[in-house]
Amino acid sequence: MKAAILRELDKDLEIRDDVSLAELKPGEVHVELVSSGVCHSDLSCQNGTLPSSFPAILGHEGAGIVREVADGVTDVAAGDHVIISFMPACMHCGPCLRGQSYLCSSLLPMLAPRFVVEGEPVMGMGGCGTFAEELIVPSSAVVKVDADIPLETASLIGCGVTTGVGAALNSAQIQPGSSVVVFGAGGVGIAAIQGARVAGASQILAVDLVESKLGYAKQFGATHVCTPDAFEQLKGEITGGEGFDYALECIGHPTTIRATYDAARRGGIAVIVGAGRADHTVEFNAFELFFGDKTLRGSMYGSANVRTFMPKLCRLWKAGKLDLEGMVSRRIALEDVNDAFRAMMEGEVIRSVIDYR
Ligand SMILES: [Zn+2]
Ligand SMILES: [Zn+2]
Repeated sequence: MKAAILRELDKDLEIRDDVSLAELKPGEVHVELVSSGVCHSDLSCQNGTLPSSFPAILGHEGAGIVREVADGVTDVAAGDHVIISFMPACMHCGPCLRGQSYLCSSLLPMLAPRFVVEGEPVMGMGGCGTFAEELIVPSSAVVKVDADIPLETASLIGCGVTTGVGAALNSAQIQPGSSVVVFGAGGVGIAAIQGARVAGASQILAVDLVESKLGYAKQFGATHVCTPDAFEQLKGEITGGEGFDYALECIGHPTTIRATYDAARRGGIAVIVGAGRADHTVEFNAFELFFGDKTLRGSMYGSANVRTFMPKLCRLWKAGKLDLEGMVSRRIALEDVNDAFRAMMEGEVIRSVIDYR
């Protein structure tokens, strides 16, 4: 089968057609992918922002059809439509039992290499690897969805939509009538804007350096948009200078993380959604942390329990409350994935989606 392989940092992905899968082991599921989004985190593995093994088959935002299940798998069967979850949700470990499956500690089953390239075992990104026509994952890493959800739509839920909408609904818990600012209007930022809209926020400001992204942001529910240089003025107009009830950072950079904390009002909530580097630091002074009485929290995978939240997102989409088709800017073949990376860096697309059919 075909797959896109990252050989080393900062190099184009290599497209091969001689990749195969390891043998299916107990507890595992063999999925034929129908669709995979190209997410900024794939780019972050390529450029070293996020750690990766080498070689690796990238891609972690996918959906497809179960072809075969191994012994011990009871929750899905051949023919089921599934979304790949890049965090397992084993439902047995401490975090899962506490209702925080996005922090599932049963990571070991995810970390086995399940691709074979030139006779050598190769890992998929985060244990997934949706830049391949088929993959094997533990059953803890698939979420069954209704067959009437288009798999292209479902694939976006695999990462960006769950992360962004989840940040708004689960991590920030945005209340109706509130003011929200979202830094970064890429795929996750657009999803966060939609989440804020679904939550009933009355003012949603999107901030991005790229003008074209601000146009998208308005289509998906931002009531105001601006580039960073105009932020202070708009903050004044929208909040009377007090700051926003909720500030969401969807970039993962120290400057915007600091700006997000500053953008939240005293007593407000700042949520860090963007995936930053482990060697980047952000400074806070000791006075502001207590005096601001702000909540600064992280958001891993939208603080979402995927087994209930992904079906909820599907219902929101069916009810016309989430625009997911509109987030698909380009449908591409696997061979075009390097161009899709460039388009993402240029801010030309919200999502490029690989169509395997
Ligand atoms: Zn678990
Ligand atoms: Zn992602």
